[in-house]
Amino acid sequence: MTDAGRVLVITGAGVSAESGIPTFRGEDGYWRNLDPAKLATPEAFARDPKLVWEWYRERRQCIRNAQPNAAHAAIAKLAQRAGDLLLVTQNVDDLHARAGLPKEKMVQIHGDIFLSRCSRCDWRAELCDAEERGTRNNSGLAGARPSTGPNEHEIQQTDLPYCARCHALMRPGVVWFGEQLPWDEVRRVEDYLGRGACDLVIVAGTTATFGYIIDWALRASTDGGQLIEVNPDETPVSTFATQRIHEPAAIALPRLIDQICNP
Ligand code: NAD
Ligand code: ZN
Repeated sequence: MTDAGRVLVITGAGVSAESGIPTFRGEDGYWRNLDPAKLATPEAFARDPKLVWEWYRERRQCIRNAQPNAAHAAIAKLAQRAGDLLLVTQNVDDLHARAGLPKEKMVQIHGDIFLSRCSRCDWRAELCDAEERGTRNNSGLAGARPSTGPNEHEIQQTDLPYCARCHALMRPGVVWFGEQLPWDEVRRVEDYLGRGACDLVIVAGTTATFGYIIDWALRASTDGGQLIEVNPDETPVSTFATQRIHEPAAIALPRLIDQICNP
C-alpha cells in the first residue's frame, strides 16, 4: 500500500447519479417540466418561493432515501491513503460524508441542501426530520442548528419557513446560479492549493462549466501532476486531462483508486 501523495478530487452531480439523484442535465433533471438551471436562481425564488421550496423539499427527501455508491466509497478510501487530500464537491447532498469522508477533507463549494438560511440576515438552521416528512408539530416550529446561533427555532408558517430572528423568508443553504461562492470555503481551497502542487487531480462527474472548477484543476496539476477526468461525456477539462475515463464514476473510480493505492 503506497501513499498517494497530495490529491485534489473535484466532483459534480455525476458522482451521485448512480445513487439515483438526478443531475441537472438532460430529461432526468427536469422537475414538473421545469429546467433546474432556471429554478436554482435567486430570480426564481423571488418570483415563486413556494415552488422553489417544494422542489428543494423533494430533493432533500430523494437524498435522504439515497445511499452512497461505489464512487463515494472509493474517494473516502483514497482520503485514508493519500498524504494530503482535499475533496471539492459541487454536490449539495451528503453522500460523500455518509461514505465516510471526514468534513475537514471536504469543501462543499455550492453549499449544503440540508441547511436553510435567512434571505436577509445571517441566521442559519437545519430543518428537523419532522418538517422533512411534512408532519410539522403543532407549535409550528422546526429544529435549529445550535452551532450557528442562539438556540432559537425557524418559524414554519403555512408552507414557507421564516427566520426566527428577523422574520424574513428562509431559503435553501445552497449557492444558486449567478451567486457568489461562500468566501470561507473558497479560502479553504486556496489555502490547500497554496500549500503546494498536487501529484494527482481527479475531476469526476461534472460538466465543469464554472471557470473556478477548471482553474482549480489546472492550477493544482500545473507542476507535472496527473489530471484524470472521469465522465462519460467530453467537458472543458477533457483537453487538459492526462487521462480520460469515459465511464460512469461508480465503475471507473473504484478501479482507478485501487490502482493508485496498489500500484
Ligand atoms: P451537471 O448536472 O451539470 O452535470 C453532470 C455531469 O456528470 C455531466 O458532465 C455528465 O456527463 C456527468 N455524468 C452523468 N452521469 C455520470 C456518471 N454516472 N458518472 C460520471 N459522470 C456522470 O452537474 P455539475 O457539473 O455538478 O453542476 C451542476 C450544479 O448542480 C452544481 O452546482 C451542483 O451543485 C448542482 N447539483 C447537485 C446535485 C447533488 O448534490 N447531487 C445534483 C444535481 C445538481
Ligand atoms: Zn433573518
